[in-house]
Amino acid sequence: MSERSIRIICSFKRHSMKRCLYQRLIWISFALSTSHCANSTSDELSSELKSGSRSCTQRYLPSGPKVESVEIAYRSARDCTGGEQPGARALGDYLTDHFSDFMNLNQGRRGIEIYNCRNVVGGSSRSLHSEGRAVDIYIPTQSGWVADNLKGDMIANWLIENAEEIGVQSLIWDRTIWTASGGRPRHRCYRGESPHVDHIHAELTWASARRETLFFTEGPSALRAPPTPRTSWIGESCQSAEDCIGGSSGELPLCLQGENQSGVCSFSCEGVCPDRAGKPVSFCISGEALSRAPEIGLCVLKSQANACYDVPASVETHRRFIGRSSANAGEAKVCIPLALSDPDLDPQPEPDPDPEPDPEPDPEPDPEPDPEPDPEPDPEPDPEPDPEPDPEPDPEPDPEPDPEPDPDPRSRSRSRVSQW
Ligand SMILES: [Zn+2]
Repeated sequence: MSERSIRIICSFKRHSMKRCLYQRLIWISFALSTSHCANSTSDELSSELKSGSRSCTQRYLPSGPKVESVEIAYRSARDCTGGEQPGARALGDYLTDHFSDFMNLNQGRRGIEIYNCRNVVGGSSRSLHSEGRAVDIYIPTQSGWVADNLKGDMIANWLIENAEEIGVQSLIWDRTIWTASGGRPRHRCYRGESPHVDHIHAELTWASARRETLFFTEGPSALRAPPTPRTSWIGESCQSAEDCIGGSSGELPLCLQGENQSGVCSFSCEGVCPDRAGKPVSFCISGEALSRAPEIGLCVLKSQANACYDVPASVETHRRFIGRSSANAGEAKVCIPLALSDPDLDPQPEPDPDPEPDPEPDPEPDPEPDPEPDPEPDPEPDPEPDPEPDPEPDPEPDPEPDPEPDPDPRSRSRSRVSQW
């Protein structure tokens, strides 16, 4: 996997380049900080892959009202405790019970790893895993060792939104580190060797580790409800694009607003539309059919046996929108959402009552990309020395922003090993 390939893959991801570049100019002082993970799974990757994925032009950006407002003092680890803390195990079990659809349960114990007695690699301080109060939550990766933000972001956002109730002092996910203390923004690019695209590293306070926080004393009713996952596919209703499922290659969905409050999920397209495992096949047509500009392409569902699943829509025949693509011309019976059709125009009459003369072969939706094969966990501390000073975060995070001195991540030391 070349760096270029990774950049191409990442270019489909959800965050804007402008926003990410802004983030790059701000903090990096914590990017190399804190303790290490329960194992060194990600370190089994080739250095080329790791180097390429170190770029922070695309990364997880936390969202939610608590991202910048939580204030929890950071406490670093001191020594090995001999095992996991009861609060860490209870939180891990809760996550597995409630978020299993979004986790990789084949890693660790049902997708959770907690205890590992070891120092920060190359440093003198202990990892929070060595005190049993760091929880690694494994998330299936997309092909190419790319974080699945549809899954991982939801868990990470939920942990941040409930950080006070649970006692989460810090987490790392998809090249982002968030801490509940210090300066703002509370999240910044994490440039450690492991991009944390296959797991969320969540660190608990001692109160949480001892089951003394609200999550344990009052029960999960003290928590905010898990965020509503994206559930709407093309043609299904949405209030915003946040409700719409993205394409399997990370294509960004749209929520096309209709006459009333509700909108309909779609994608912009030229020639072809994104697929998603288990979802109906779609077709790229001119926006004109959806009361939009004729020179843009939008995805709608292809009808199946003159029906449109459970989506309120009319079946019409439309030509493929080619745009600048090299796709073949063609036409198909598609589902025009009623919410987007022009009420002044009669639906295009069906030219042919016969079984669907669809010239377009119905491709099977791509199967869900296989998660990256899980490398063997490395229970042994990595012998590779870390030339960086102790990356354990200070209890008092430095409020001074550290401008990014070097926009090229490849020029940073490749020998740095940062494991959480
Ligand atoms: Zn970890």
